Amino acid sequence: MTDTYQVSDFAYLTSLKSEITSTAAVRAHNLSLTLNLIRDRGRITRTEIIRLTRLSAPTVSSLVNILIASDFVREGGIGHSSGGRKPVVLEFNYEARMVMGIDMGATHITIIIMNLKGEVQRRFSCHMDVLSKPEESLQVIRTAVEAILTGTGLSEQDLLGIGYTVPAPLINDKTGEFITHYMPAWKDFCCIATIRDLIKETPIYFENDANAAALAEKWWGCGLGYDNLVYIKLGTGVGSGLIINDVVYRGFNGTAGEIGHTTIEADGRQCRCGNRGCLESYIGIQGILSDGRRALVNDQNWTGRLDELNVKGVVQAALEGNAECEKIITTAGYYLGIGLANIINLVDPGLLILGGELADAGQMLLEPARQSLVERTVGFNTQTDNLMIGDLGSDAIAIGAATLVIMNSFHESNIYTALRSKEQNALINA
Ligand SMILES: [Zn+2]
Repeated sequence: MTDTYQVSDFAYLTSLKSEITSTAAVRAHNLSLTLNLIRDRGRITRTEIIRLTRLSAPTVSSLVNILIASDFVREGGIGHSSGGRKPVVLEFNYEARMVMGIDMGATHITIIIMNLKGEVQRRFSCHMDVLSKPEESLQVIRTAVEAILTGTGLSEQDLLGIGYTVPAPLINDKTGEFITHYMPAWKDFCCIATIRDLIKETPIYFENDANAAALAEKWWGCGLGYDNLVYIKLGTGVGSGLIINDVVYRGFNGTAGEIGHTTIEADGRQCRCGNRGCLESYIGIQGILSDGRRALVNDQNWTGRLDELNVKGVVQAALEGNAECEKIITTAGYYLGIGLANIINLVDPGLLILGGELADAGQMLLEPARQSLVERTVGFNTQTDNLMIGDLGSDAIAIGAATLVIMNSFHESNIYTALRSKEQNALINA
């Protein structure tokens, strides 16, 4: 007997293999569809799932059994009947797993643990010179992750995944490698290595900080229901996260949304990127605060503690009559408006959301920004409130990082891993 196959055998084996592959892919798609529907609705009956997904009753029944066994879905009482037997209601279990979000900013580190409903359960935050101290920063993150897991009593298996944001455009969303042009100290450091020896198997997803914040506001904040929105992060760096037609837009090189380095004055101020007249050189937080310190150098309220000055301090001084401080904020608003006008003229989003420390200036910043953007745009409607400060405040990026985990884990390409994480592998493959 020989072990060579006839051509017809080979064709048969190939078709069998592709059939098996496509069956798994179809099931992954259906599991993702059903799980996201239940998560989105919170409570739903099997009959409604059949109607909305157009899947057959036996298919839905089998999918729901897998989701119940994985603990993401549970039976939650009896629903209303339109005649006949009352249906069992299925509900999403928002506590089935926890998600972790790590926001590694330029000057801070924030880490949160969140349930699947977007509710923060535990939070850690500290100031850190991340920009110039990569090794120390990574060590702080590692120690904090370890402490949070110990403090909450969570094991790696309780986590659906970890989302990790970096304050620069990403080169590789698997390793967290990012463009170090603005952060040269990071040239030889890699984010994933630091926590991979601590977190062995749990998926880790990387994202740029402004993109994550845009996602967070879309899922849990003022962006709910918008398919087109832009989140503008007003921090040490100025960046934006673009959500276009419901997905994060990254561009060809992953650098889309770098609004901070668009030119607003042809021969303007020197920027840290090497160019002149960038938006960031006018509204970046470091510049605002150094102008603020200069304005308040003779102010008795700030004697001896000017290095504690923040945006709220500058605004407060302005409200108390310091004309120079008022000018700092309104000038920033004026330039911000030009930047926003450029975004609107380019992508026409339904909503512009401001976040980051400068957003703490509130109306004092918003008014001049609105004025200068109205002068420069066609069709921007100031009557409908489509320029606003984000709902999620300074945690938006960390919440976005954690949200990234939910979004990716329940996608059909990762659904088996998500369900498997609590020993459901056998059931899926049965
Ligand atoms: Zn620049």
